[in-house]
Amino acid sequence: MTTEAQESVVRDGVHYHQFDIVIVGAGGAGMRAAIEAGPGARTAVISKLYPTRSHTGAAQGGMAAALANVEEDSWEWHTFDTVKGGDYLVDQDAAEILAKEAIDAVIDLENMGLPFNRTPEGKIDQRRFGGHTAEHGKTPVRRACYAADRTGHMILQTLFQNCVKLGINFFNEFYVLDLITVKDADGKTQIAGVVAYDLSTGELHVFQSKAVIFATGGFGKIFKTTSNAHTLTGDGVGIVWRKGLPLEDLEFFQFHPTGLAGLGILLTEGARGEGAILRNASGERFMERYAPTIKDLAPRDIVARCMVQEVAEGRGAGPHKDYVLLDCTHLGAEVLETKLPDITEFARTYLGVDPVVEPVPVMPTAHYAMGGIPTNNNAEVLADNTTVVPGLYAAGECACVSVHGANRLGTNSLLDINVFGKRAGRQAVEYVKTADFVPLPENPAGFVSGMLEGLRNNQGTERIAVLRKTLQDEMDKGAQVFRTHDSLEHVLGVIKDLRDRYRNVHVDDKGHRFNTDLLEAVELGFLLDIAEVVVYAAQNRQESRGGHMRDDFPKRDDENYMKHTMAYLTGDPHSSTPSDHIKLDWKPVVFTKNEQGELNYPPLERKY
Ligand SMILES: Cc1cc2nc3c(=O)[nH]c(=O)nc-3n(C[C@H](O)[C@H](O)[C@H](O)COP(=O)(O)OP(=O)(O)OC[C@H]3O[C@@H](n4cnc5c(N)ncnc54)[C@H](O)[C@@H]3O)c2cc1C
Repeated sequence: MTTEAQESVVRDGVHYHQFDIVIVGAGGAGMRAAIEAGPGARTAVISKLYPTRSHTGAAQGGMAAALANVEEDSWEWHTFDTVKGGDYLVDQDAAEILAKEAIDAVIDLENMGLPFNRTPEGKIDQRRFGGHTAEHGKTPVRRACYAADRTGHMILQTLFQNCVKLGINFFNEFYVLDLITVKDADGKTQIAGVVAYDLSTGELHVFQSKAVIFATGGFGKIFKTTSNAHTLTGDGVGIVWRKGLPLEDLEFFQFHPTGLAGLGILLTEGARGEGAILRNASGERFMERYAPTIKDLAPRDIVARCMVQEVAEGRGAGPHKDYVLLDCTHLGAEVLETKLPDITEFARTYLGVDPVVEPVPVMPTAHYAMGGIPTNNNAEVLADNTTVVPGLYAAGECACVSVHGANRLGTNSLLDINVFGKRAGRQAVEYVKTADFVPLPENPAGFVSGMLEGLRNNQGTERIAVLRKTLQDEMDKGAQVFRTHDSLEHVLGVIKDLRDRYRNVHVDDKGHRFNTDLLEAVELGFLLDIAEVVVYAAQNRQESRGGHMRDDFPKRDDENYMKHTMAYLTGDPHSSTPSDHIKLDWKPVVFTKNEQGELNYPPLERKY
């Protein structure tokens, strides 16, 4: 659907449009921003997917908010859990905003028509999720609002319907491939718009805008075993990186404990929230040994490591002893069919295992990027630790606010996209009220057309799928749940080699209509760039914290590493080692204090 409000013009075969605000991405974050921006400014949403196919729609378990509908709860406990769950790398002022604004975020969705599950009295029902507790870790609490195990699907549909109601302009199956920036007299970056490729025609479109909001989602496809959709190739993050803007905390990637073994397809933590139990080959509930208080509902980084350890120490199940089991059998058919219908079906369809009668083989799967494009609490993108890039915003999984620190708690992402999507939209509307359009540079689509023609006409023989598979295999081997200096060094060598081979990549399809072959080549370029930053930053952080576990530095080291990583692209990545083209720097973590000047959330040992 393209319902553009005003005419576009065509010059030299390139289409030109003008909007106040352009939002890149039609997932939860992008559409929540659009709902906020649309009524106040001429807004366009550009998406490489039809909006309702965005990955938000795959989210299963729930969205956190301390509504206290079923049990006593408070936003302050939610903040504490978020900070502790994130292994103290969370910016605490941002976590407070997240937890406080969660309540309104859920009510907003309810008012927009989202059909949440209900309690018998008709309130929004809530379920347990990992790391969410009452009274600062004493006992699990029911905090996740949900719609069966299709919460993300409901959020996405609800937001899309409301965007349609507001008459937002959508450009679907348009790939944004460049951010148009211009330097002002002081050398500061100004935003002039974006360049997009129309998948259906192969034509280029320049969108001139006063503000751009990136909401392009995650990049789980740098790994082989992942819960992420094929399209999650980190385009937005890659575009910003290539513009010389920094990326924050990329080494922190979350491995979700319960991916279907061998496949990575997700089984929601909501299953354990409803009472499912992880067992090793001998049927032992092994999480009791590792996290005696909240057991299977410990945060994801902890559970994932325990699972890998069980397998490494020979207690894995199956013919090759290479997975553990998620036992849902005691929940009964009714709970499974009504509260967890999708995952019950996934296990049946993809593994031929019926969770009603037998335990399901599971292993950790690459799930969520804690790091991304650095922003402040108003979703404004940062050019360094403090300087805002005027007119540029990021929200959702592609952004790093940082509310998730070193490990995100389950159900805090659907929350994040709503809270910070809304903030991005609101902030952008304020900005465009007084900002002017930045004049477009000459030939604004030149870079993209050169890149695409270069790939299309490349005479090399390297296959896109082969290069991508090598990257993903090696990332799983060397940069997954457990990492060492040497395993990471090996992956960096592989990436350097792949980058050289990428220069000879062959695109079979020379056509202009629906040329997914060409786009996959572009996406592979983003994957290589991002994977390199993830691995280089992981090698630089010589400690273990949250989702980043270094076997050679197994302890958290607050003295040296209680700080965010900031990575900058400083040179040409081709044929050079990371130290020649990536500069790593640090950014302090924000701690909040009470009236007496004491830290609200002083770093604790992370016992559960
Ligand atoms: C299987 C699964 C289950 C999950 N379950 C939960 C859960 O229960 N609770 C929870 O809190 N979190 C969950 N998460 C995480 C959460 O769903 C995501 O982090 C969140 O939905 C991301 O939303 P987003 O809007 O940032 O990105 P997405 O929903 O991924 O949307 C990205 C958008 O960007 C667009 N885009 C990307 N690149 C380009 C480009 N180059 N040009 C144009 N458009 C582009 C895409 O078309 C898409 O519209 C789950 C994730 C997965 C994978």
